[in-house]
Amino acid sequence: MTRASVFFLCSVLLGAEKARLLTPEMRAVSNHVTASALRGHVAFLSSDLLEGRDTPSRGLEIAGEYLATQLRLMGLEPAGDDGYFQTVVVQPENLNSAKSRNVAGILRGSDPLLKDSYVILSGHYDHIGLAKQGADLIFNGANDDASGTASVLEAASALASLKIHPKRSIVFILFCCEEKGLRGSRYYALHPLVPLAKTSAQLNLEQMGRTDSTEGPHIKAANLTGFDFSDLPLAVVDAGRRVGIAVTKDPKGSDAYFNRSDNGPLARLGIPAHTMSVTYDFPDYHAVGDEWQKLDYDNMAQVDRAVAIAVLELASSLVAPRWNAAYPQAKQYVDAGKKLYAK
Ligand SMILES: [Zn+2]
Repeated sequence: MTRASVFFLCSVLLGAEKARLLTPEMRAVSNHVTASALRGHVAFLSSDLLEGRDTPSRGLEIAGEYLATQLRLMGLEPAGDDGYFQTVVVQPENLNSAKSRNVAGILRGSDPLLKDSYVILSGHYDHIGLAKQGADLIFNGANDDASGTASVLEAASALASLKIHPKRSIVFILFCCEEKGLRGSRYYALHPLVPLAKTSAQLNLEQMGRTDSTEGPHIKAANLTGFDFSDLPLAVVDAGRRVGIAVTKDPKGSDAYFNRSDNGPLARLGIPAHTMSVTYDFPDYHAVGDEWQKLDYDNMAQVDRAVAIAVLELASSLVAPRWNAAYPQAKQYVDAGKKLYAK
């Protein structure tokens, strides 16, 4: 065999191997995700016009209208108490509390029995608003968390484009008030839009665009918090492998950050819920320099292909994710899960 024919045979085999990694549905959702769509969403959501999306603020209201419009264009079912909006009392302990809005839509499942069970894909669309002084007054919050918000939109658009929807229903939620102490997701946990005991999993997205971690470049890679807490991360690892994204445990962040994001409130009630990120610490974190031009949109698109495939798999599976009873740090969640799903 000549060198040329060996090379040809190898490339055919590699091509076949790659093709085998994606089912037709996975290929369809993967092909639907584009860097340019993500760039468009992030550039708008983190533009100066939206004034840093504080809760509550004019900028956050505009962002919410934009998100609801996107969900409507995808043909998702409105899931809130006011169309796509869930009215959130920001400080329930205060009688005169300000109100804000989570934004939520449902892609109804196709299986007669499983369509009444739900997988949640979420992110937070608020940020920290305006600086008191300085040359630049706007905390744009491009990576934190316009990137997660845009990733939810793009995965939703990809999954909604499937001719046959996955078996389970998927709820796409963009939370407000995260920067005020997870108040949007905490409100959701107390006032769920679909039954908690029928919610099998939550994947939450934070900081999906920057690859310049303070610990060095983080390309074609992502982390999940609570990596050993349940078997949900395995679905994301598998999806990542199919598109060349290494989804791994961050030894420092995995357990430490588990309760620091919008997966926490539902995890504490027993739903296997994790937050996925490309980087944790990055330059410009909660600084006015967190702007849309600094994100790596090609990398983000590839990570989001893994997200869309993972959600497709979670929503297609007959089996729901389970907490890991063999991991001592997960005990509180194992116990909460037993209580929640026993009902
Ligand atoms: Zn965030």
